[in-house]
Amino acid sequence: MGRIFSGIQPTGGVHVGNYVGAIQNWVRMQDEMESFFCIVDYHAMTVPYDPSDFRRRVREAAAINLAAGLDPAKTTLFVQSHVPEHAELAWILGCVTPLGELQRMTQFKDKARQHAENVNAGLLNYPILMAADILIYKADTVPVGEDQVQHLELAREIARRFNGTFGPTFPEPQPRLTAGARIMALTDPESKMSKSVPGSYVALTDPPDEIRRRLRRAVTDTGPTTGEMSPGVRNLFTLLEVFDAQGDTFRALRRAYDEGTLRYVELKDAVAEHMIEQLRPIRERYEELVAHPDRLRTILAEGADRARRVARTTMEEVYERTGLRSRA
Ligand code: ATP
Ligand code: MG
Repeated sequence: MGRIFSGIQPTGGVHVGNYVGAIQNWVRMQDEMESFFCIVDYHAMTVPYDPSDFRRRVREAAAINLAAGLDPAKTTLFVQSHVPEHAELAWILGCVTPLGELQRMTQFKDKARQHAENVNAGLLNYPILMAADILIYKADTVPVGEDQVQHLELAREIARRFNGTFGPTFPEPQPRLTAGARIMALTDPESKMSKSVPGSYVALTDPPDEIRRRLRRAVTDTGPTTGEMSPGVRNLFTLLEVFDAQGDTFRALRRAYDEGTLRYVELKDAVAEHMIEQLRPIRERYEELVAHPDRLRTILAEGADRARRVARTTMEEVYERTGLRSRA
């Protein structure tokens, strides 16, 4: 049986891009593979955040993932900083990671631009910590969105370098992508939907009227029509395909588009209604979970205990291979 690892940052509202690009895939896979799922709070510290609000965000991120189908009976759900061995392994892996590789990462360049006033070393080292998250569980499969494929390539490179230097220890993890692996921002369909860009997303917890309002504002065509489908319209069709379970509306509107009779407002409203329908049970389960904080606390505590046992076993092997730790 293989092992999967995936994570999400507590940086803002978990959105439909996270859901169709990563969470949904992972929910399907937890039946077949041993699964670890992590709220990556160390990662979220790489951008400015409010410490007084951070614990609430972590709890909400855990709750929304549980509501979206993560089952604690099948998956080890935990908070990254509850297993500090992730940070310890990241240090060691950093010592086999070429600096140039980190500097060419697209996410680093994007986030450095977004937070030009605070380009810290954590932002640069983000992919090393991500490699540690995955490798500490010796996961071989990682359900992520397309934006993380480059980081996974680097994680494989780091695993190869570690294995080459210290002996075979880590498997090389592979991404698992979905059809909705790259959902674009509603307001700017040239860049991806992001938790940390307010207005770019529909959150899984948004009430129906909010979902309708956000879709009505989605950018469709900009500039002169080229004959090709514009990125905004393509994004709306991707969302419709994912959220229209039967596919009837998707096929009808796609035909209307081909025939030149589609009104974009119809497309937007169809996406909104199908989304509302599919997200309703998630929102209900979420509200139930946040109303019972004790239950959530127990799930996260048990998850951290299970994860830490595995992480410590890997670290013993790492100490042995790297020559660390003996006091003799
Ligand atoms: P942030 O803006 O803080 O980076 P984010 O929206 O990018 O937030 P992450 O927590 O960084 O979310 O990523 C969680 C998972 O969701 C990852 O597997 C990532 O690949 C996936 N993901 C993020 N954005 C999208 C998107 N627009 N479409 C599909 N998958 C996505
Ligand atoms: Mg991200």
